[in-house]
Amino acid sequence: MIKMEVSMKFGENEILEREQKLFSTEHRFLNRLRLDALCFQLFLLLAILAVISVCLIGAFRGIVSSAPTVNEKQILTSSKTTILYDKDGNELQRLDGSGIRQNYVALNKISMAARNAFIAADDTEYYKHHGVDIRNFFYAFYPDSASAQYAGSRRTLTQKLIRNQIFVSDNNSSSMERIVQKIQEQYLAVQFESEVGKDKILEYYLNTLYFGGNRIGIGAAAEYYFDKKAQDLTISESAVLAALAQDPAVYDPVEQQKSNSNKRTEILSVMLNMETISEDEYEDALGDNIYISLQTANQKKTGTTEAKNYYVSAVISQVISDLKERAGYSATQAYHAVYQGGLKIYTCLDSEIQSICEKEVEVQRQRTGDRKKLQLSLVFMDQSTGKVKALIGGRQGEVPQTGGNRAVDYTRQPGSMLTPLSVWLPAIDTAGMTLGTVQDDCLYSYSENGHQQNTRDQNEYQGLVTTRDSILKHLESPAVQAMESFGIQTGYDYLKKLGFSTLVEKQEDMDGNVISDVSLSLASGTLVNGVSNLDLTAAYGVLANEGKSVKPIFYTKLVDKTGNILFKNEQKSSQLLETASAWLITNVLREYIETGAGKAADLGIEKLPAAGYGASTKGNKDQWFTGYTPYYTAGIWCGYDDSGMITSDISCETLWKQIMKQVHSTKKIEKGSFKIPDDIVACNICTKCGKLAVEDLCNQALSGDTVRREYFVSGTQPTENCDCHVKYRVCKKSGKLATEKCPKSQVEERVYLIKEEQGTTKDTPYVLTPKLRSSQCNIHK
Ligand SMILES: [Zn+2]
Ligand SMILES: [Zn+2]
Ligand SMILES: [Zn+2]
Repeated sequence: MIKMEVSMKFGENEILEREQKLFSTEHRFLNRLRLDALCFQLFLLLAILAVISVCLIGAFRGIVSSAPTVNEKQILTSSKTTILYDKDGNELQRLDGSGIRQNYVALNKISMAARNAFIAADDTEYYKHHGVDIRNFFYAFYPDSASAQYAGSRRTLTQKLIRNQIFVSDNNSSSMERIVQKIQEQYLAVQFESEVGKDKILEYYLNTLYFGGNRIGIGAAAEYYFDKKAQDLTISESAVLAALAQDPAVYDPVEQQKSNSNKRTEILSVMLNMETISEDEYEDALGDNIYISLQTANQKKTGTTEAKNYYVSAVISQVISDLKERAGYSATQAYHAVYQGGLKIYTCLDSEIQSICEKEVEVQRQRTGDRKKLQLSLVFMDQSTGKVKALIGGRQGEVPQTGGNRAVDYTRQPGSMLTPLSVWLPAIDTAGMTLGTVQDDCLYSYSENGHQQNTRDQNEYQGLVTTRDSILKHLESPAVQAMESFGIQTGYDYLKKLGFSTLVEKQEDMDGNVISDVSLSLASGTLVNGVSNLDLTAAYGVLANEGKSVKPIFYTKLVDKTGNILFKNEQKSSQLLETASAWLITNVLREYIETGAGKAADLGIEKLPAAGYGASTKGNKDQWFTGYTPYYTAGIWCGYDDSGMITSDISCETLWKQIMKQVHSTKKIEKGSFKIPDDIVACNICTKCGKLAVEDLCNQALSGDTVRREYFVSGTQPTENCDCHVKYRVCKKSGKLATEKCPKSQVEERVYLIKEEQGTTKDTPYVLTPKLRSSQCNIHK
């Protein structure tokens, strides 16, 4: 209380003082001066603002007057032919986008549900704004790269249409140019809306959207996915298509049901909020089990490729994905750029190699007289550049039901094709194992997702085996044990590093179960989605490329309609593995071809080594062979689209051999080598314990010679002598240990194996039993 009074008194005094000062002449003059200065500053500011405004208006006029014109013709038919060339510059194919227009549907032939679903998904304010949403005007200044999603989502439907159809292939520009383009986009949107009106724009929009594959426009999508006309699309179906069109690579309702379904739910709830559907319709749509009917409709189709061959379709999908990732195109925009944008695409296709591959596949087909439509895919690449030289994606003109290309975006189970990469490579490269490390191939139980599992029954388990033997004989039990010991995550990380793009880290299926490839199934090559031939071939290519990464590329250069290089495509290799690790696995894979199960692939060219690996999956649903020379890597897959058991006696190995022989001879390559790294040493080991072989012991083992020359990274080779073999004198007559009394002619030296058996294996007959060790001949007394 006291304090307050004091301060109030103080305040009164202050005001009085100030008043006195203000009215004194001295101060009045000073204030006048200050006021004049302030006026001048204000004036200056206004002048600057005026100049800036004039400049801005000028700039805006410039931007607007340089904007492309927009009219129906341009929206619908702005088309320039794209040309693809092979590696020698010969014209391969022309894409003129013909066929895109044939499914055009007028707005009154598009169901109300479909119109509302797309408005809900793409522009909820569509019927309220005038082409641009003024609240979002400043989105123009957001850099696309920093927040592409954010900036993109703020475009109105009209702007999206203009961006997709008018600004095709002009995206690869500076940030200033991008701002200019976005301003033009908004200007054109306003102009276009006032000219043709909302309904016409919606009609154009729905007819020019990209729905994956070669499907453009809602008419084509409705027919492809639901076998019906756009006017009959239900709410649920419309939401599926609206979700798909967000990005056909991410929301494919057949391939990626879960992500499409999440997006669909999102769209349906927006529709509910916008009151374009009722609560009941919303519930009905959600309960509609649409994905099942969608698959059956889809299975009726036997598609044909618009592209002449599978190589072209692979190039197109790589270009589309690069335009999206590297140049910020929308999916629809990228599709238009490729089919109507007048691009020049310089591909890596080697027409010579392609025709050798096609011819040999035909020869094999004729020979086996296959009648049940066996499919085959082939990837032929140069590992040192990543260039895919040739490709076969199935029988000509028979596209898989899921669309795409069997060599590139079609996945199958790899089976034990994966094991050298998922298990043995990390085992050697990082986990301290060697080719000579010994494990027991025996019945082995392990826990997988809480279930107890046994390794696959091999009829007969091999007993103690080295890493080399496990690879050569496709042994599952040692692979599982090895992966368990060094960790599943490590194996998974190696596959990621090698470039496998279809692995599932963690995913929920439609029933809410969590599924993941981070599991021991990696050791046997059973994956959630399987692998593509392209990824598998490129991964083996890493071994061929001395441990350096291999990025498959289908084209080297992309040139836009004005002759500017949009971008170049090069493999930038990095060292993924120790060179020695790659060489050691290659050494085993050479043996696999030269004397192992892959003998049919042996090129038999003295100075040209080759390495490779083959496998068939459970139930013989898939057959694989992937191999490489110092120059080329090629991978072959065989199987039926319906995953039936392969009945044909087609041999991937033989086909691989014929193609490789011809390609190398056509290219006049007669010799080469897998260069041995400096830090590789060799020594003789006992293959039952992995230690140094002992003369007159390991080579005399009862089971047969167990000595083998093995390669090691210097410093990892064994230093101790074999301790698993023991030599006893045995009386042949009694089969027991010989005594002094046994006649010399009846006594022989036998080398037994010291081992504790976990179950019956091939070792069992040769193991020293306690009974034998304590026995004595009871015949000669
Ligand atoms: Zn030994
Ligand atoms: Zn030994
Ligand atoms: Zn005896």
